[in-house]
Amino acid sequence: MSTQISQNYYKRAQNVMVGGVNSPVRSFGKVSGTPLGATPFFTRSAEGPYLYTEEGQRLIDFVGGWGPAILGHAHPQVQQAIQEALARGICFGTPCVYELLLAEAIIEALPWLERIRMCSSGTEACMTALRLARGYTGRDKIVKFSGCYHGHSDSLLIQAGSGALTHGHPDSAGIPLDTAKNTLVAPFNDPQALQSLFEHYPDSIAGVILEPYPANCGLILPLPDYLQHVRDLCTHYGSVLIMDEVMTGFRIGPQGAQGREQVFGDLTILAKIIGGGLPVGALAGKANIMKCLSPEGPVYHAGTLSGNPLSMAAGLATLQVLRKNPPYAYLEALGLQLQQGLQALAHEAQIALQIPRIGSMFSLFFTPHPVHSYEDVLKAPSAPYAQLFHHCLQNGIFLPPSPYETAFLNQAQTEAI
Ligand code: PLP
Repeated sequence: MSTQISQNYYKRAQNVMVGGVNSPVRSFGKVSGTPLGATPFFTRSAEGPYLYTEEGQRLIDFVGGWGPAILGHAHPQVQQAIQEALARGICFGTPCVYELLLAEAIIEALPWLERIRMCSSGTEACMTALRLARGYTGRDKIVKFSGCYHGHSDSLLIQAGSGALTHGHPDSAGIPLDTAKNTLVAPFNDPQALQSLFEHYPDSIAGVILEPYPANCGLILPLPDYLQHVRDLCTHYGSVLIMDEVMTGFRIGPQGAQGREQVFGDLTILAKIIGGGLPVGALAGKANIMKCLSPEGPVYHAGTLSGNPLSMAAGLATLQVLRKNPPYAYLEALGLQLQQGLQALAHEAQIALQIPRIGSMFSLFFTPHPVHSYEDVLKAPSAPYAQLFHHCLQNGIFLPPSPYETAFLNQAQTEAI
């Protein structure tokens, strides 16, 4: 594929934007072997299952804007809703009906939620949920799982220490060790490790945050009963369980991972699909916890653009389409077909390939061993994925530019695509 125009833009972008991008994975660093990455293509437009590059090439998109585009790109009903909202103004700084309608739609779809707070990103929602868990319990420590990503706030940008019972080590420069010391890191799918953390800190863990289907180190599926085990430990020790459904919410079913597993958090984080492709985040949960947030309670949270009418209108329209014509059975069938097809191809070519998948989310690990944790992910070689990525791109298919990201199907894709 030709990238001449994109190359010129990328050169200019590097003069004015750090690394030429506004979010690191867009630099293709994880599939190029260099920290600054290969030349990313610039997208001119997106419609249905396709991205169109500045060079005019058409790519079948398996990234879906990193998750929001479950209906495909530029769905007419979502576009119309944004246009109607735009005609009324852009930013009010007062309550508006779109916020109310989206809040009602979410709580109606996920009835274990009683109160919701909209904000502007998944990062902000997760950060606020930690503060709320701490304010509610009066405790300081948080448990997260290695390989789970919850945005880039200080307490959460911490991955594996050397397993359970160690304090987390920051994953980025600029995070005080004093902050990191309150984040404990456990391996996912290891019931004993979490139990040991609780036994070691029975009275100081404010909350446990997890992606019920971790999807930020490739895709990892929970082993049977694991999520219930996490739930039971949180209940036993009085810690707030925070289910981060930024990726999975309204994606793997009408009630996300919690509905699918019938294991429910005390707080739920949403983003991506509930903004229909515009900036959004939300935290929600039982009223007795949520009412600790300002203005009802002492835990502060605010936002100039929280509940922005355009994001709310786009999210509301997306949820309305999903409710009227649920795509989940279709996406499940399409996902299964893709998974089986790829597995058969790999088998024929004698390539060891694991394809964890849930509904319309999947990832590819070039290893003969099942992948149940971040530690397993790191053992799988990443070079074959980089090769596959570039081969696909040359042939009009855009996979996530990193072996550690999850690919998404969308409703606009068909068997033929
Ligand atoms: N939580 C999860 C599970 C995510 O996948 C992401 C982003 O991909 C975030 C939180 C952060 O969301 P945002 O990028 O909107 O800040």
